[in-house]
Amino acid sequence: MRDETKIVVAGRDPAKQHGVVNPPVYHASTVIHPTLDALDAAQAARARDEQVTVYGRSGTPTSFAFENAVAALEGGYRSFAVPSGLAAVTVAMLSSLKSGDHVLMVDTVYGPTRKLCEGFLRKMGIETTYYLPEIGADIAGLMRPNTKVVYVEAPGSLTFEMQDIPAIAGAAKARGATVICDNTWASPLYFKPFEKGVDISVQAATKYIVGHSDAMLGTVTATKEAWTRVRDTGRELGYAVGPDDLYLGQRGFRTLAVRLAQHWKTGVELAIWLRARPEVIRVMHPALPDDPGHAIWKRDFHGASGLFAIEIEPTPRPALAAMMDHLEFFGMGYSWGGYESLMIWAHPDHFRTARPWDANRTVLRIHAGLENIEDLKADLTAGFERRAAALKGTKAAAAE
Ligand SMILES: *Cc1c(COP(=O)(O)O)cnc(C)c1O
Repeated sequence: MRDETKIVVAGRDPAKQHGVVNPPVYHASTVIHPTLDALDAAQAARARDEQVTVYGRSGTPTSFAFENAVAALEGGYRSFAVPSGLAAVTVAMLSSLKSGDHVLMVDTVYGPTRKLCEGFLRKMGIETTYYLPEIGADIAGLMRPNTKVVYVEAPGSLTFEMQDIPAIAGAAKARGATVICDNTWASPLYFKPFEKGVDISVQAATKYIVGHSDAMLGTVTATKEAWTRVRDTGRELGYAVGPDDLYLGQRGFRTLAVRLAQHWKTGVELAIWLRARPEVIRVMHPALPDDPGHAIWKRDFHGASGLFAIEIEPTPRPALAAMMDHLEFFGMGYSWGGYESLMIWAHPDHFRTARPWDANRTVLRIHAGLENIEDLKADLTAGFERRAAALKGTKAAAAE
């Protein structure tokens, strides 16, 4: 079965629910069992890791349907749904670490993941070293006897550097570390982590899987070897997702392939168009042939999503505000992966330590939505014109 077909059929079984196409939404905490034997049997089945309904928090047909669909597409053994992408990162990390352990973390990781390392994990006596995204097999030189997790995320948050995940995973596993991958950008449609040596894949399903900016959701997918500790960690932490959010996740999932193809196309076209603008110094998008990460992207990925960044000529805040405040189609807000275009002023300098980022560089992160590209270009053109007018006004005022 090919991916587009999996996206349509995985996790669904209409014959079990009166022929209804979509899985039912079970609002559940208490699940009642008719006899003592039945309750014991349900508990025994749960202990054997069967998908049985014993109590709301430990899974319902609604959560199993969503988790099975994600695991099938990602190519992992099983998947665990949690209430946010950051919760997924937390489960993956805590499943593989204890006090005294060491983490190798990519310097370009999603900011709140870095906070988890510097906050909660540090308090638990777990130390983190940040490595440069292009390290490849040289990661071996940073491994310590207590390095238990090597964490990858490609492309990097805000600046989109690629990583040689197979080389890093090979070196990490040769020394007994667990490889955790944040697979949010590509989604399991465009990157297959388990074929590249990853043990645990996390996703902010909030982004492309939900796909409509209306729910928070995360997934942790694991190999058979890592699954038990992932599942137990998620359960011990008490993570359970509300049924309506799980439903939105499985509903968004069914159209992932068609949505992503369009985000990819619009994103690349917009990136190429932006590169030709005089204000743009650099476009950070691994699907562009002259991007430093392009060869790895081409080798390991099956597509690109709609998220990338541009660096424009250093722009003072008032001129940037003149440009961004009045954009018609690019909303200014966090997250991405919904149907709508977004733009934020990114500050990579807040989130880099292995290689500091110059705070004077002006970086804009763009999410290419599903609007018509000509409307998006016109909106950006008008924005650049407002920026130019504001810069001219500032210069004129300075000359007076
Ligand atoms: C958004 C995001 C997360 C966190 O997801 P939430 O659902 O917002 O908690 C994790 N990793 C990456 C790469 C993200 O973009």
